[in-house]
Amino acid sequence: MNYLDEYSFPIELNRKNIKNLYIRIVPPDGVVRISAPRRMSDRLIKDAIEKRLTWIMTHRSSMLQRAAEPVHNYKSGDQVFYFGRKYPVQSVRGRRGDAVTFDGRKLLIPCWEGQTIEEAESILYRWYAEQLQNEAEPLLEKWQAEIGVSVTRCTLRKMKTRWGSCNVRDRRISLNLHLVKYPMQCLEYVIVHELVHLLEKGHNAVFWGYVERFYPDWRKAKSILNSEGIWG
Ligand SMILES: [Zn+2]
Repeated sequence: MNYLDEYSFPIELNRKNIKNLYIRIVPPDGVVRISAPRRMSDRLIKDAIEKRLTWIMTHRSSMLQRAAEPVHNYKSGDQVFYFGRKYPVQSVRGRRGDAVTFDGRKLLIPCWEGQTIEEAESILYRWYAEQLQNEAEPLLEKWQAEIGVSVTRCTLRKMKTRWGSCNVRDRRISLNLHLVKYPMQCLEYVIVHELVHLLEKGHNAVFWGYVERFYPDWRKAKSILNSEGIWG
């Protein structure tokens, strides 16, 4: 058994050309992500984990607890993210089947008597999906041409652990619906990232070389997506 597997939480270890070891806890699932210098021994890495065990456990459990609480009711007074900005919600009288409208300042969400949070949420996410689709389409066109690859299908899905995925064999990509809450550059980066997988399957030096060449600003977008923040 790998020494990292003995802990009760998932650990992801990345070796990098850095001087010090860093530990981060990544939302929403509280994966413990460790960046360690290339030649640091397993012993030292384990020591570092042990030393910060209390911090890891506290931080993780509050993150997971937060993730479990309903943060939104999607009614007047609530605020939701839309492409990197937070907008107030305004409830408007409506019926099942009505759509969200955006007036540039507020998101108007139809509501009716007895409407559940889940119902309001699904109205919003239907609208989110349309907006993401509208923004993703031209970007997909642009980047398929730029990178010189083509996909057969792109689907939008709510995913818990990944921003996107690529089925290389079928040339299908999926984008996480939650990307609609983040700045547009994040969507663009994930599209480039998934398309580059059609040139190189793994996350190796060749892969990151392509990403760097096609989308030099990738680090910024990636760090926004990795930081604890919007998501919900
Ligand atoms: Zn990837």
